[in-house]
Amino acid sequence: MNPSNGDILAMACYPDYNLNTPYTPNSTLAQTYDSLSDEEKNESLYKMWANKSVAETYEPGSTFKIITASVALEENITTPDKPNDFYCKGYEVVADRKIQCWRDYNPHGPQTLTNALENSCNPAFIQLGARIGAPTLYKYYEAFGLFDSTNSTLYGEQKSIFQNLNNVGPVELATMSFGQRLNITPLQMITAIACVANDRSTNETTNCKRNSKYRYWRYNRNSNY
Ligand SMILES: [Zn+2]
Repeated sequence: MNPSNGDILAMACYPDYNLNTPYTPNSTLAQTYDSLSDEEKNESLYKMWANKSVAETYEPGSTFKIITASVALEENITTPDKPNDFYCKGYEVVADRKIQCWRDYNPHGPQTLTNALENSCNPAFIQLGARIGAPTLYKYYEAFGLFDSTNSTLYGEQKSIFQNLNNVGPVELATMSFGQRLNITPLQMITAIACVANDRSTNETTNCKRNSKYRYWRYNRNSNY
């Protein structure tokens, strides 16, 4: 995607299939295809043909930390290089859960936001998410276009899946802060990342309506939005 205007420059999915022989299962599907019923064969072919960039949702996981970090910066909750801003002891206890850092065998210790992003540290982002709070995160999820279609006009675009804000407790807030317990399409993810990647001080009046950048810009300049 061109981050300055939302143009989709290329899109690919894997496992793919041969467009010249669309009814031939690809190597992944071929492993089970013969054992399937006719109905299952049909369904699996439709799944193979689907454009997974828009037709399937997924948990973005750590790539979503970019969104949490950008909300924190936009809301002046922290700065990139504030020393000892976060502390990783290898895990974080949230309500009745113990949520691990991927490097629990060698905890990251004190970190700035920049360190936390470089380390992809879950406890740091849990701490950051708690400071931001669910209502503010949700405002930005909406501004990033994550509740809406990307209007790509591509066939079969799926809707994202988020918990109702009223049902977001401390555990849900913690896990969403590092990209789990929410489902979006890959195209929604890249569209939101493009909002972060482009400099909002430029291109403000260019034709950005195909992505959420325009909406994000409006959100920051119009309190009634
Ligand atoms: Zn850590």
